[in-house]
Amino acid sequence: MWSRDLSDLLPSVKLAAIAHAKLCADAGIAIIETCTYRSLDEQAKLYAIGRTEPGAVKTNALPGKSFHQHRVARDVAPIINGKVAWDDFELWQQIGALGEKVGFEWAGSWKHFKEFPHFQITAGLGTSEFSEIPQDEAEIIVLEWLESSDFMTVIEQLLKEKK
Ligand SMILES: [Zn+2]
Repeated sequence: MWSRDLSDLLPSVKLAAIAHAKLCADAGIAIIETCTYRSLDEQAKLYAIGRTEPGAVKTNALPGKSFHQHRVARDVAPIINGKVAWDDFELWQQIGALGEKVGFEWAGSWKHFKEFPHFQITAGLGTSEFSEIPQDEAEIIVLEWLESSDFMTVIEQLLKEKK
């Protein structure tokens, strides 16, 4: 099973995720993290679903081409009355918009293969570029991107606020 631990994300992406969850909580929306880091093997298994394995297609990202492997993507789900509310379109729109406030790119707004649960911060890098740089370097690039686009100010403000 893949990770649901925010600590398996790059530190700056983890901070953004915490800030996103707080924004959602402030709006009365409870979300859970359903996937953070996914290994190459786990991505290969997921990619097979709907192709060589039974089920509906879950991802268009080939193994090596998922941002989950590079620790900059996470999937979330809203919880209503103790259950995951997969089909509430308006709720997803809200969650997506709140994620974008703290720097996430939301896959629910993509034109092709929308993925409502998926959020990522890539700082303009592609998966092949992430593959070529060490994680600490990726963290610096992502952090600088969040700082230069002022998202870090929003994140830090949110993290400072008490419940
Ligand atoms: Zn995802």
